[in-house]
Amino acid sequence: TPPAPYRGRFAPSPTGDLHFGSLLAAFGSWLLARQAGGTWLVRVEDLDPPREVAGAVQRQLDALAAFGLHSDEAIVRQSERGTLYQAALDRLLAQGLAFHCHCSRTGLAAAGGIHRRCVAQGARTDPAVRLRVADHGVVAFDDAVQGVYAQDVARAVGDFVLRRADGYWAYQLAVVVDDAAQGITDVVRGADLLDSTPRQILLQRALGLPTPRYAHLPLVLGADGRKLSKSEAALPIDRDDPLPALRAAWLRLGQDPAALAGAGSVAALLARAQSDFVVAAIPAGAGDRHDAAAVST
Ligand code: GLU
Repeated sequence: TPPAPYRGRFAPSPTGDLHFGSLLAAFGSWLLARQAGGTWLVRVEDLDPPREVAGAVQRQLDALAAFGLHSDEAIVRQSERGTLYQAALDRLLAQGLAFHCHCSRTGLAAAGGIHRRCVAQGARTDPAVRLRVADHGVVAFDDAVQGVYAQDVARAVGDFVLRRADGYWAYQLAVVVDDAAQGITDVVRGADLLDSTPRQILLQRALGLPTPRYAHLPLVLGADGRKLSKSEAALPIDRDDPLPALRAAWLRLGQDPAALAGAGSVAALLARAQSDFVVAAIPAGAGDRHDAAAVST
């Protein structure tokens, strides 16, 4: 069978306005999709009403439009997809791969917050649902930017939450269900999610879903190597003047600034970016890969 056609996505959470880090993920995932002649989707990850900022969904979508980044298909919202998540959860529960858990954060504190077996039996609170993670649950994958990443999920995170005690769906479950339901072949996102990927791979296996390819883009780091400098954090994602931020994102993706020289409109810049983009030039990011490997294996 021929390989599935490339399908990528950008999946912002509406917890604030689009910032430079999210523009980097949007632009980077768009560039990889376009270069592959593939499809690029926007998915609104509005799973967490308590953290949602009013009006943020529309402002993020307006900002993407101003940067010339348009979803190739109708935008889906996770808040409308609970039936899909419930079906996946029911399957995991029926197979004994997930379980109800009444443990509280404080109850798990003695174990470093890592769940291996329930410490609370009482049913006075509503339960969370967790995925059971086997001992020595080492998961490794070959990231297109970060290289081989391995994590012992049992030791690093333990049994993890699929549905929260407050009834909301956990990001890990929703993202796995949606990436599969939308036929995503390539997940391109910020390296802050690198250490979530082994959990997502375990969930894909538990649900019998394919594992996409992964590319984790460099974090936005300051000149001093810290995660986000004041100046870069403040870099205006100015919808009325999108070219400077697009050029800055292009640079952070390790690309040749000369390729965009003279591009005077968003359309012209995106056309040049699309044709001159070099995936192999994307840097892993100063020290990210090292730190990540040291922490998780
Ligand atoms: N919604 C997540 C975020 O904004 C990203 C999810 C993903 O790309 O897998 O951080």
